[in-house]
Amino acid sequence: MAQRFVVHYSEVALKGNNRPEFVRALRKNINRSLSGLGHTITYTEGRFVVDAEGTADDVSGRLSSVFGVSWFAPVSDVPQDYAKILEAALGSASGAKGSTFKIAPRRTDKSFPLSSQELASKLGAEVAKSTGLSVDLSEPDLTIHVDVVKGRALIYTDRSKGPGGLPLGTAGRTVHLFSGGIDSPVAAWLMMKRGTRPVYLHFYLAPTPRSAIESKITKLVKVLARYGGRSTLVLVPFAEYQLATAGVPPELEPSLFRRFMRMTAEALAPRFGASAISTGDSLSQAASQTLWNMASFDEGSSLPVLRPLLTYDKEEIVALARRIGTYDLSLEEYKDCCAIITRHPRTRLKGAVVSEYAGKFGFADLVWKSVDGATLVAYDPKGDALKAAPLSDSIPKAAATPPPSA
Ligand code: ATP
Ligand code: MG
Repeated sequence: MAQRFVVHYSEVALKGNNRPEFVRALRKNINRSLSGLGHTITYTEGRFVVDAEGTADDVSGRLSSVFGVSWFAPVSDVPQDYAKILEAALGSASGAKGSTFKIAPRRTDKSFPLSSQELASKLGAEVAKSTGLSVDLSEPDLTIHVDVVKGRALIYTDRSKGPGGLPLGTAGRTVHLFSGGIDSPVAAWLMMKRGTRPVYLHFYLAPTPRSAIESKITKLVKVLARYGGRSTLVLVPFAEYQLATAGVPPELEPSLFRRFMRMTAEALAPRFGASAISTGDSLSQAASQTLWNMASFDEGSSLPVLRPLLTYDKEEIVALARRIGTYDLSLEEYKDCCAIITRHPRTRLKGAVVSEYAGKFGFADLVWKSVDGATLVAYDPKGDALKAAPLSDSIPKAAATPPPSA
């Protein structure tokens, strides 16, 4: 059955001269989210009107995962004619729960003969008379919105919240350090919410990538692909690193490994056109995430390191993880490489010390050795297809890639 929805954006509207570009990107992303359903999208005065074949739940579910959408609602779309507007308003009030209502008019087409105020009182009186509901302007059980736009009127009652933010793809790419814990999937979602596309980078402990491919890591990528569409995951083996750094003082281990992760992300960034690194770090959540250790993580990086969860409490992160749909998967059993690293690192390790060890263990070469053994997993939600191949098959090492700095 065809459903008609009105879809609104918020922050996109603030974009000044760049607004058309953001609106185009949003339209493309709404289009992509509805793919497979017969649908059309039209744009009118700052909102989209979407017609889609499918159940209301299916269409709503899809719209609620498009970044940039502020809210949406099933809509009656009628000609600019008072009798038709009344009929639609009565239709939306019929079967309504509760006993009170209000009319919320918005008239962007000033040529409509009734002012917003006149429309509200006229419609309000007739809806009250026909339905037996009474008007309550402060806390109504039902709000009937009437938007009078050019040539038509849009009537709707149930607004659903979209994820907000900005359209995916309008803010470049990041290489996103992805662990399978609770935090890094949420951090990826927040990066997408601001328009970036993450390339997921995961370091795995097992002897082959198979167990990572079959683990919660790819399942989490699939959940995030509901929001991000086609996704790329790079699986880098931990083995080379483990061999090369045997004998490192245990209290340095976490910071040193984290520096290695950063350098690997930096090395891969040009191949994916990424201009920043992102992580699920939250300030002082763990000893490896103190301000001092974050500074030593970043020292010498040619790319900015973005930490969308920096100021979030764990409870806030968990609430978001539940909303996104990653929480239960994040709790699944999985042996991460961090599990074999000491839990008691130094909290104020100087960047220079980390750099010294990184030099001693030959990180610049080690990064490439590890990347040579990496696997690229491409996930396309359209066909639910997961393809894994050696990274070197799909993306050749760019000759111009500079060696990462320690
Ligand atoms: P949680 O804290 O809920 O276990 P997390 O994803 O934050 O999950 P941490 O151990 O806190 O895990 O690690 C901090 C950050 O370091 C992660 O958010 C992630 O960005 C990065 N990270 C940790 N382990 C890995 C890994 N195996 N591969 C890639 N990135 C990782
Ligand atoms: Mg964490």
